[in-house]
Amino acid sequence: MREYFIQAAYLAASVLFILGLKSLTRPEKAQRGMQQAALGMLLAIAGTLVHHDIVRYDWIIGGLILGSLIGYPLGMFVPMTAMPQRIAISHMFGALAATLVGVAEYWQHSHGGGSAAGGSMGVATDISPGKMAALGFEVLFGALTVTGSFMAFGKLQEILPGRPITFKGQNLINLALFAATLGIFVYLIFNPGNATLFYTMIALAFVIGILLVIPIGGADMPVVISLLNSYAGLASAATGFAIGNNVLIIAGALDGASGFVLSIIMSKAMNRSFGNILFGAFGSVVTASAKSVTGLTARSISAEDAAMQLGYAQSVIVIPGYGMAVAQAQHQVRELAELIEKKGGEVKYAIHPVAGRMPGHMNVLLAEANVPYDRLYDMDDINPEFERADVALVIGANDVVNPAARTDPGSPIYGMPILNVDSARNIIVLKRSMNPGFAGIENELFYNPKTSMLFGDAKASLAALVGEVRNL
Ligand code: NDP
Repeated sequence: MREYFIQAAYLAASVLFILGLKSLTRPEKAQRGMQQAALGMLLAIAGTLVHHDIVRYDWIIGGLILGSLIGYPLGMFVPMTAMPQRIAISHMFGALAATLVGVAEYWQHSHGGGSAAGGSMGVATDISPGKMAALGFEVLFGALTVTGSFMAFGKLQEILPGRPITFKGQNLINLALFAATLGIFVYLIFNPGNATLFYTMIALAFVIGILLVIPIGGADMPVVISLLNSYAGLASAATGFAIGNNVLIIAGALDGASGFVLSIIMSKAMNRSFGNILFGAFGSVVTASAKSVTGLTARSISAEDAAMQLGYAQSVIVIPGYGMAVAQAQHQVRELAELIEKKGGEVKYAIHPVAGRMPGHMNVLLAEANVPYDRLYDMDDINPEFERADVALVIGANDVVNPAARTDPGSPIYGMPILNVDSARNIIVLKRSMNPGFAGIENELFYNPKTSMLFGDAKASLAALVGEVRNL
């Protein structure tokens, strides 16, 4: 009876995870998707809690309380702009759990359930090659994800230097360490009794995690985190195989596959290969070959004049970017859009797939401010409309509107698809200074004769614009 309940709970949980992922593909269903996934997780935990392998509950209850105490503030109080590092630290915990389960499973076979003693340290060798492969995979991916995610967290939180850290012979050392770890892994499959090698492999994986992430620039961390997400998923799936737990296999496979697909989508939208992200040290320095805009002057505009353009425009396209997230200006954006609409103008939002610092960043913020979903347009759908727009209102976006991506082969963003803001009749840019964005390069759009710069924090500028448009 108990076994039926466990399997039914696991089955329902797996279905809910799949439905949750499916719902997350549509903004209007995303919230429901999260609820479905959370319910799935609750069922998976409930199923696991009645498992006959559990002999005492005190540690488990302690763990549940401790986990809730850590998880609740992480979910509720971390600001959206810090979401990438929050996700990194969650992956670290997930991967740590997978690694510890792997170690516990190995330990149990060597000190408890094992029958035949052998190998170094008197370890049992009753682990089948298949099980050892799953265990090895689990601790290998788990351990390198623990340190890799922690390094990613450190870089994004600026505890560690964001610039790529490189040293002579780095690739050779990485390769040698990787080959040694792989060699131990294969050896252990056929000689599982060698505990010294098992723990050496984990130690090496911890070191590999660090070495893999330090040469990558802090700004590329979101893609790395998505990749580490996929590793953590693979480690969980391997845990499922190692301990014979179906829901772990399914959830781990879903996690691994979706993390990998997301990494591909992100690199594609940035027009970069995985190799370039992992070894290109991008986002750290201003590229010398990028075209300079020295000699050109940008035109600044007052909130009053900008409001005149916006208030009388028939068609306005809003382009949100990372600066809107930093300023938390999404509510003011919606307020301004409503005022423009009241005055007879039409407002659409152009969403670049990598605007902000994580996939869907802009969608989440605008949804939070109750901007209707049907006003949000993907890049390919909105690009043909720019030439008919009276005003393109750029709010804290920079790289995703930089024409150098089209025209300057020397630019690090060359080839990245961008929003065709420069086709609009007038362009108003809200940002604080002429500072570059994520890619560290200048933007010719700001010097375009059609462009006016409204300098200041986006939230304050939008509040001023709302006031001015209201008074028109
Ligand atoms: P950018 O990082 O290119 O530019 C953001 C701009 O916002 C800056 O130029 C900054 O200028 C301005 N800004 C910052 N704070 C404020 C503020 N408080 N008020 C007003 N303006 C502000 O952002 P984009 O969204 O255009 O581009 C995203 C970049 O991130 C792309 O290069 C993308 O490849 C990269 N990326 C995106 C990922 C994703 O998943 N979305 C993942 C990894 C990388 P100033 O300082 O002058 O105000």
